Amino acid sequence: MLSLTRTYLRPGIRGKEYVNVTAKLATGLAEMFAPSWDLVMSHKQGRLTNAGYTEGYHTLLESIPLGQILHFQEAQLAVSPTCVFTCFCPDGAWCHTHLLIDWLVENHPLLFADVRQPWLKPQ
Ligand SMILES: [Zn+2]
Repeated sequence: MLSLTRTYLRPGIRGKEYVNVTAKLATGLAEMFAPSWDLVMSHKQGRLTNAGYTEGYHTLLESIPLGQILHFQEAQLAVSPTCVFTCFCPDGAWCHTHLLIDWLVENHPLLFADVRQPWLKPQ
């Protein structure tokens, strides 16, 4: 079981437990969890509501093969029992890292656990 939480990108955030899932900086396996630039820009420019972004991001997540999700979970568990997704958004802000954690735990409850502190969640 891999524990999931999130934090915001800042100096000193390094280590394999931190997994960048931004469109700009995600690398390797984590790229599958990054939103598309189209989603990011449409949302930023106000052409896409939070609900629209959520729908688009869910579609993206649902397209990931199960084997890739399993591979990610195993690879992260091998380095740390907790995986911390990182994004530019501050704690307490609406952010795709929350959508990602919600989706992973809901769809793969035997693989992932949500350990976000309440104050991390969108207020
Ligand atoms: Zn974010």
